[in-house]
Amino acid sequence: MESSFIGYTRGDYSSKSFQAVNPANGEKLPSHYAFASDEDVNLACKLADQASLKLAVLSGQEKAKFLRTLADGIEGIVEDLVGVMTQETGLPELRVRGETGRTCGQLRMFAQLVEDGNWVDARIDRAQPDRKPLPKPDLRSMLRPVGPVAVFCASNFPLAFSVAGGDSASAWAAGCPVIVKAHHAHPGTALLIAEKVVECMQQCNWPEGAFSLLFGEGRTIGQALVSHPVIKAVGFTGSRSGGRALFDLASKRPDPIPVFAEMSSVNPVFVLSAMKGEEMDQFAEGLAGSANLGVGQFCTNPGIVFHPAGEWGENFTEVYAEKMKVTKPCPMLHQGIKDAYETGLNGLSSCNGIDVVYRSTINENDLGSAAGPAVLRTTATSFLADKSMMEEVFGPSTLLVGYDSIEELFEVSRILEGQLTISIFGDSSVLHEQESLLSELEIKAGRLLFNQFPTGVEVCPSIVHGGPYPATTDARSTSVGTGAILRFARPVCYQGFPNDFLPDELKEGNPLGLQRCEA
Ligand code: NAP
Repeated sequence: MESSFIGYTRGDYSSKSFQAVNPANGEKLPSHYAFASDEDVNLACKLADQASLKLAVLSGQEKAKFLRTLADGIEGIVEDLVGVMTQETGLPELRVRGETGRTCGQLRMFAQLVEDGNWVDARIDRAQPDRKPLPKPDLRSMLRPVGPVAVFCASNFPLAFSVAGGDSASAWAAGCPVIVKAHHAHPGTALLIAEKVVECMQQCNWPEGAFSLLFGEGRTIGQALVSHPVIKAVGFTGSRSGGRALFDLASKRPDPIPVFAEMSSVNPVFVLSAMKGEEMDQFAEGLAGSANLGVGQFCTNPGIVFHPAGEWGENFTEVYAEKMKVTKPCPMLHQGIKDAYETGLNGLSSCNGIDVVYRSTINENDLGSAAGPAVLRTTATSFLADKSMMEEVFGPSTLLVGYDSIEELFEVSRILEGQLTISIFGDSSVLHEQESLLSELEIKAGRLLFNQFPTGVEVCPSIVHGGPYPATTDARSTSVGTGAILRFARPVCYQGFPNDFLPDELKEGNPLGLQRCEA
């Protein structure tokens, strides 16, 4: 029996337990994981609270040392991860290795960010005692950690958005303790990483409580964590219903806290000019590749395509369906996601004005939670009449929507919900011709792409992986890239403090050599 990590020790073994299921064959995996008890949650929070003040005074170098040690440590267990994670998720070995690389890359990216130190946005307004009519006081501000952060592991990124993924890395980089709620679908993967986190924290002399890992249900353990007074912010990737429930819970606390939930996005693609022959074929090929990537389980999966109706639209639909048919059913990450996919497809298929062009059939050889591609189509008129067509169907399906005029696209853009991405395809003249449409679309998405597909999120300083609701619960944030650290920091201003008592970032003489905004 395995149990939670409460600081550096293990939690309660006595409560009920669960097992992961291999989505490739539907069989339960042997290890049992005990649900965290209420005492476990309380102790994890108490330790996090105590660790909070100690983490807040760590230097950028001390934080960078841990983040790099952890990256090295995770790289060192990649063979173990391949063994456990492929069984728990049905993901291929190549993906496990690739996601390990991304996870370690993120940790090192944040290490470099905090070592450099400029992220704290130091601002200095020196005193002007002789200013008339009133003297100006000395004011200095910078970003400081918010305090303990609750992180929910994402089913679709068992490494890069789970125990030591982007949310945790950015919170630690900001100087915040992290309490992770494991996902029920990949507890063994979570445990392997947690063991490494604890080992590296001890090696780097980080305080106990800077990390805990809780096994258990979202509706009990997860909600208890988000409601706990010690928790000051939440990072989440998952369903709209789950993210919204946590956001509502956090907002109703006596002291509401921010929830950075990344939830649902159909990542619309707008085809603004009718491509010819080979070009259209390449577009259809690229779109099918993007829609089927990871069995459609990427948050940036292109779910809806708006294209010119008429003869071009008919041809394109035919070509696209043929490309999608090539991909055979594969296991989705867990049975719940597969059921949600099938339910979503059934719902969409039954809407007025929807034709099912292709829906792959699952036969007895497709074991476990296997699902395959689907192509549906409708007209912009029908789409505008039924907003439920806009809802995310998480998986490898595409809804093709034929439009007759640019005016219809303006109407679509007005009813469109918030998105992580919107992709525009056409020759470069459309950017000039449709400038006002682009302005409308910009309001709806965190990332706009031109002649590129939305999957394959680059991890770098300029990326934005966020967007207006329901893509996220806070359109001002990104969960990928260095900007993610800002979710777990808040500005603090020091007025009239003697130099010795100021943080080094704000001291006279600029001992850390930062780029500061000074007056
Ligand atoms: P999920 O059901 O939202 O679960 C994510 C995490 O949140 C799990 O730890 C879960 O706990 C917890 N949780 C869920 N509902 C909760 C609630 N009401 N209160 C507290 N905690 C709650 O997401 P999932 O399992 O990853 O996938 C389910 C569906 O989410 C998919 O079919 C898809 O529609 C959507 N999804 C979207 C994205 C995206 O990026 N757009 C990514 C992943 C999933 P348990 O461990 O108890 O389940």
